[in-house]
Parts: sequence; C-alpha cells; structure tokens
Amino acid sequence: MNLHDIKAQLLTVKAEMEARLLRTHKHIHLKDEAVSPNFHEQVVEREDDEIVHALDMEGRKELEQINRALQRLEAGHYLNCGRCGQPIGEQRLIAVPYTEFCIKCAGA
Ligand SMILES: [Zn+2]
Repeated sequence: MNLHDIKAQLLTVKAEMEARLLRTHKHIHLKDEAVSPNFHEQVVEREDDEIVHALDMEGRKELEQINRALQRLEAGHYLNCGRCGQPIGEQRLIAVPYTEFCIKCAGA
C-alpha cells in the first residue's frame, strides 16, 4: 500500500471538508441575520438550521479524524491500530482512510 497516495487522498478529503464547513458556517451566519417575515418559513428555516448544525458537528468530527490520521502518517504509526498496535489492515484503510483503530478495537 502506497502511503504517499494515502496522504494525498487524506489531504484532498481534508480540503473538501474544510470548504464544506466554511459553506455551512456562512449558511448558519446568514440565517441569523435574515429573519423571514413569514412564520411558516421561519419554522422551515429552523428545521433546516438543525440539519445544518448537525452536518457541521459531523464535519468537524471527520476533520479531526483526518488531522489525526495525517499526524499518525507523519509519525509512522498510520498502519497500526491506535489501541492494540496490531496492523489495521490494508482493506480497512482503503475503505476508511482516516480510521485509527483495527476492526476489532473499533467494534469493541
Ligand atoms: Zn486494535
């Protein structure tokens, strides 16, 4: 498995995630300023905001995982489980490039 490719992939995902979070932030911010004059629309906007906030949280968590994976890559620990130290496995790393644990530890 080519660690150089993995790193490039992680950096691509990271850039996409950061761009998405930035858009989400703008969305949240603009919604605060623009209050709809129509009550029904306000209700819809509120539900929409909750989804956006949830996406924002999700994105932040993923971004954290990606940053950790990049650090692990730099430190040379990338291929091994962060808990038990056993190899995570090529197939799992290809499926989830920013995973920190082997399938046993992730499931435990
Ligand atoms: Zn493990």
